[in-house]
Amino acid sequence: MSQVSRVVTHWIVGNEQDRGIPNAYSKNRIRNHMRRYSAFAIAREGARYHTGWERAWKSPAPKKRYDAIIVGAGGHGLATAYYLGKNHGIKNVAILEKGWLGGGNTGRNTTIIRSNYLQDPSAAIYEKARSLYETMSQDLNYNVMFSPRGVMMLAQTEHEIRGYERTAHANALQGVATEFISPQRVKELVPIINIHGPRYPVLGALWQPRGGTARHDAVAWGYARACSDMGMDIIQQCEVTGVRRDGNKVIGVDTTNGTIDCDKLGVVVAGHSGVLADMAGFRLPIESVALQALVSEPIKPCMDVVVMANTVHGYMSQSDKGEMVIGGGADGYNNYTQRGSFHHIEETVRALVETFPMISRLKMLRQWGGIVDMTGDRSPIISRTPVENMFINCGWGTGGFKAIPGSGWAMAELMAKGASPLADEFTMWRFGEGKFIDESVAAGVAH
Ligand SMILES: Cc1cc2nc3c(=O)[nH]c(=O)nc-3n(C[C@H](O)[C@H](O)[C@H](O)COP(=O)(O)OP(=O)(O)OC[C@H]3O[C@@H](n4cnc5c(N)ncnc54)[C@H](O)[C@@H]3O)c2cc1C
Repeated sequence: MSQVSRVVTHWIVGNEQDRGIPNAYSKNRIRNHMRRYSAFAIAREGARYHTGWERAWKSPAPKKRYDAIIVGAGGHGLATAYYLGKNHGIKNVAILEKGWLGGGNTGRNTTIIRSNYLQDPSAAIYEKARSLYETMSQDLNYNVMFSPRGVMMLAQTEHEIRGYERTAHANALQGVATEFISPQRVKELVPIINIHGPRYPVLGALWQPRGGTARHDAVAWGYARACSDMGMDIIQQCEVTGVRRDGNKVIGVDTTNGTIDCDKLGVVVAGHSGVLADMAGFRLPIESVALQALVSEPIKPCMDVVVMANTVHGYMSQSDKGEMVIGGGADGYNNYTQRGSFHHIEETVRALVETFPMISRLKMLRQWGGIVDMTGDRSPIISRTPVENMFINCGWGTGGFKAIPGSGWAMAELMAKGASPLADEFTMWRFGEGKFIDESVAAGVAH
């Protein structure tokens, strides 16, 4: 057999060891480095009955010690681990998750991505994130289905017009491409919208043409696969139950799988941030509440942008499967319930039926909730903590999916170097110092 035919044979049917293994997901399939996903890989696997796909990430037992532990395998935790490895060469990392990875808010959100925030520090980190989404599928070798289809935030009162025009001017100075558009332009972009609503007519909109959506699970899975490929340990079903300290310095964590030591600890647990801070002996200016969403039955394509209607309070986009993805409000009281409720469905659907009358005949397919972590100024916390070598990333509230890559980038830099230009303003101490980053307009609707 010539060298060329040997290479072609190997490419089509794999090596001898592969051919000898009947079960595609046998442990023997775990290599040191994962094979790249590509059109060729699909053709190769098609030729051998898809028996050669390997697991997307490994499931190792925890080691005794790591250079860094990340608590929480949501998008932000996984992105933090990924950039620790990719940007700073720190790869002896464990990501501990009490449930399954991506099973928190990352797998429960409505996937809106935009960066049209008012304040400079917010625009910087959200635009960094949005720009990383543009190339994420290539960077991670995982199709995250980023769809920059455009996001519009409707102005339905004079107050909103002023707020969004101000944001458009701020965005122009920040280098974020947005514009304030007329009601006629809104109607052209979204033919199914009713711009003469019974309560609030559409008076214009803040339009970000490169905003959009991505597939939420794929973002978590893509980062997880890349982390695992770098040799990091993703340990699911492993709840952190205590933070261990030597004096004021973190030395490790107690978990349901035993004690694990670390030099640095990153806590990225969204709605459970207060619980973890409590374990370490300090308090956070955070409230946890359930935020809800629902999807309709799938229908043919009818809307190819994302629309947010903050005054009537609801927002909608159409998924690739055809479902109308509808976001509702946050509960008006603190809680840790991950479920939906009837009164939110009613309020949200009422708001959207007056905006899009055609949806009144759709059936609801499912609803759910996630526990979001809200700060008083509606901006996140990416910060050192009162405990040495312990860092916290939280407070993304109703809008952190869009921020995942930028947040991970900044948190990794903070953990590796002790400071990050993207995170500088987001310390937990800003609340004591009165240096709020007020994003109540940009975060005026849950998203
Ligand atoms: C209904 C809904 C709609 C939303 N829509 C949007 C949107 O359209 N656009 C947008 O940008 N954002 C949206 N968001 C917000 C977004 O989902 C969150 O801000 C983001 O996903 C937070 O990611 P995370 O990685 O910080 O948290 P999570 O994904 O919640 O991950 C935290 C992880 O920590 C784990 N954990 C907690 N405690 C422990 C412990 N003790 N030990 C180990 N692990 C622990 C949890 O199990 C969880 O998996 C929405 C949220 C909800 C709920």
